[in-house]
Amino acid sequence: MLEALLDLLLPTNCSICALVGPVLCSDCISKLPIRERQVSRGEVCGWAVTDYDETAATLVHQFKENQRSSLAKYLAVPMLAPLLSLGESFAFGKPTVADLSAMVLVPLPSRRANTQKRGFSPAEEVAKSLRRLCPSGQKPLVFNGLKFARGVADQASLNVSGRRANLAGSMVGSKFLVGRTVLLIDDVVTSGATIREAARALGEAGVAEVRFLVFAETLLKTNARK
Ligand SMILES: [Zn+2]
Repeated sequence: MLEALLDLLLPTNCSICALVGPVLCSDCISKLPIRERQVSRGEVCGWAVTDYDETAATLVHQFKENQRSSLAKYLAVPMLAPLLSLGESFAFGKPTVADLSAMVLVPLPSRRANTQKRGFSPAEEVAKSLRRLCPSGQKPLVFNGLKFARGVADQASLNVSGRRANLAGSMVGSKFLVGRTVLLIDDVVTSGATIREAARALGEAGVAEVRFLVFAETLLKTNARK
């Protein structure tokens, strides 16, 4: 609300090309390589809507590291189509669940230090934006159903096996989610170590089904195929 007011009072620039105007201009939106596809990490299946190319990387960097939380809705817009089709599909093995309101969007948790530095949780902002975009009466619940049970190192500097070891057994899922259908939400999936740990923790908490939906998919430059 405050941010929308400030946008009106103070001129903004496009986060990618710096053109004066909206936080993301239509030119830069059209350059995003939107390409919805099914992806998987380990046993967990999900959807990504763009490649983590230079444009997407700049957008995500501006969103997360330059405190431009208003960009969340631009990440969420292309994620809406796969979310809506999930509500109608058999993807969760329950053809009777044709209703998004039966689904819970669980943002992947951020390390506390990162949330404090940024002032917001990127995955939570994307999940809330997605919910706002859903038709009324079809809005999934957004619930922070995961937390870290211990401290973890920043994943950015670790390779695939390091990421997995860093996160193994680190999360706890909420018992509120017992028997529920959960869609994990994040901005970018890389090795999938976070998603796999989240799915493990939610499975242990009694969640019936776990899938994920992210904005961009990327692979680690080294050890990507391990
Ligand atoms: Zn632009």
